[in-house]
Amino acid sequence: MMKLLDMFQKLCNNRMTVSPHNIYIHVPFCVKKCNYCAFYSKVCGAPDWLDYKNQILSEINFWVGKIGRAAVPTIFFGGGTPSLMPTKIFAEIMNAIRSAFDVAPDTEITIEANPGTIDTQRLQEFIAAGVNRISIGVQSLNDEELKFLGRIHNATDARKFIADAQNAGIRVSADFIYGLPDQTVADVKKLCQQINELGLEHCSMYELSIESGTALAKQNLKMPDNETMAQMYEAVGETLNLQRYEVSNYGTPCQHNANVWDGQPYLGLGDGAAGRVFINNQWYETKYDSIGVLREAPLQNRERALEVLLTGLRTTQGVKLTPEIKEITNWNSAELTIKDNRLVAKNFLLLDNLIVRLLK
Ligand code: SF4
Repeated sequence: MMKLLDMFQKLCNNRMTVSPHNIYIHVPFCVKKCNYCAFYSKVCGAPDWLDYKNQILSEINFWVGKIGRAAVPTIFFGGGTPSLMPTKIFAEIMNAIRSAFDVAPDTEITIEANPGTIDTQRLQEFIAAGVNRISIGVQSLNDEELKFLGRIHNATDARKFIADAQNAGIRVSADFIYGLPDQTVADVKKLCQQINELGLEHCSMYELSIESGTALAKQNLKMPDNETMAQMYEAVGETLNLQRYEVSNYGTPCQHNANVWDGQPYLGLGDGAAGRVFINNQWYETKYDSIGVLREAPLQNRERALEVLLTGLRTTQGVKLTPEIKEITNWNSAELTIKDNRLVAKNFLLLDNLIVRLLK
């Protein structure tokens, strides 16, 4: 009897060492490459979804063997274009996650969607398979700008799909890009007023940056200067009726991103997905090695603290003032405040230079 009790206790102890892991699943397929896009994605008319699903299922098996049956606070399907995925494949991946890990009924499950790839029917099927939050790539509400950006949808498609998602009763977020050539601060304010009218619970506002290798990089574009960009950034914060909680994010936080930025572990599944797992008190980054075998590579405490500092300081709640953060930063700098034992940056516009100055 004692032996049985000991075994049970041992099982419970092992169980307790399994840290919760958020899950990010990368879906690296797109209908067409957008003109500004430098993300990892393949233009693919007919992706091999069976092959993709098998890869994700084998990665799930791999990780459950390594970390155990972890609780999963959030699941995020990002891309690429996850809304291209056949809903049957999506449901099979969700079932595999549910049988391998502990997924609570109210776990936040987000899918990114391109309005040119999804209709009300398919949206309902994603919801039936578990989606309770959608992040829609709208980028602009102006057809000329959408054409310039190389999007496959127009503003009417995007507005209609936002309304569909809101009517479906799930949480709705949308991404927008500002700082286009010839755009003025007044144009950005107008965009924000239009966004307010959409009644979103969350939006992401990204400055257009011209990345090398993109179609926009081949054009000789005259971009707004730094001063104008800073004014646009301030105009966004002042005009949107959603509260900024991260450099580019407003409204009710995306729990997945908030957890990752705050330093929680997460699994990255699928080609091109990064992950940070925590097993027996050790952090690992996850990657495929040179012969294509999925592995975890140990991360030093300093490296991990630096990552958490970089993401945490971009949020209004800041970064926990842990011994590791104290060790790597000049944390009592005048450019920071300390709130509830967290370091908070005073001015997001100065963040890039601030981080360089803070590091010991
Ligand atoms: S849909 Fe998204 S990931 Fe695909 S090319 Fe456009 S911006 Fe890039």
